[in-house]
Amino acid sequence: MSDIKLEIKDLHKFFDIPGKRLHILKGINLTVKKGEIVAILGPSGSGKSTLLHILGTLIRPTEGNVYIENTDVFSLCDEELSALRNKKIGFIFQFHYLLPEFTALENVMIPMMIQNDAKRHPERSEGSQNNAVKLLENVGLAERLSHNVNELSGGEQQRVAIARALSCNPELLLADEPTGNLDKETANSVKDILWNLVRQENKTLIIVTHNEDLAKSSDRIVHLIDGKIY
Ligand code: ADP
Ligand code: MG
Repeated sequence: MSDIKLEIKDLHKFFDIPGKRLHILKGINLTVKKGEIVAILGPSGSGKSTLLHILGTLIRPTEGNVYIENTDVFSLCDEELSALRNKKIGFIFQFHYLLPEFTALENVMIPMMIQNDAKRHPERSEGSQNNAVKLLENVGLAERLSHNVNELSGGEQQRVAIARALSCNPELLLADEPTGNLDKETANSVKDILWNLVRQENKTLIIVTHNEDLAKSSDRIVHLIDGKIY
């Protein structure tokens, strides 16, 4: 098997707004190997989130190709694309987008229950629950399983978001400023947790960050400036 996880070839993204066409990504080429942690740095507005959303198959590029393990992902139809996304990709955002009225455990279980079609197969819920407990233990939240997420601190919420991102055991993790809202110390502990999980299971991580410690601990730093990678 090839050790290349992700390949981006001559990627362009335009956004059409009234009276104007914005050229946001201007020919991005990047190859990321399995197990690699790549940090993307760049000024605000340079297209980092747009790039991450394309890599996560949430939006389509205007031109160019993204290969995930040799699959030309944007040649897939929307349904195939969602299936690939659910199976292979985990997201961690700056704003965690957890469901505030649900417990930490439920937030981590829900993606697995959807993937396992728990509505039709309720017997599978137990497996999802056991997995969710393990994932939350791994991020140091064994004592917080039944807290509603709005009763958790910012760092704890982001650890729940990490556990949720890992819930369907994705090989590729995409993180968009995951410590952007955290103080330095909390950011560091979230980083350590994320790095350990990624290293232990040889996952691939692409992380957009302004945090120098995170960037320095990555295997590689790339700069996105004015829509191009340097
Ligand atoms: P970054 O994450 O580096 O701060 P973004 O990728 O969020 O930058 O945005 C890059 C540029 O693209 C910004 O100027 C933003 O306003 C613009 N942009 C992002 N999404 C859209 C959209 N859906 N429609 C129009 N413009 C957009
Ligand atoms: Mg952004």
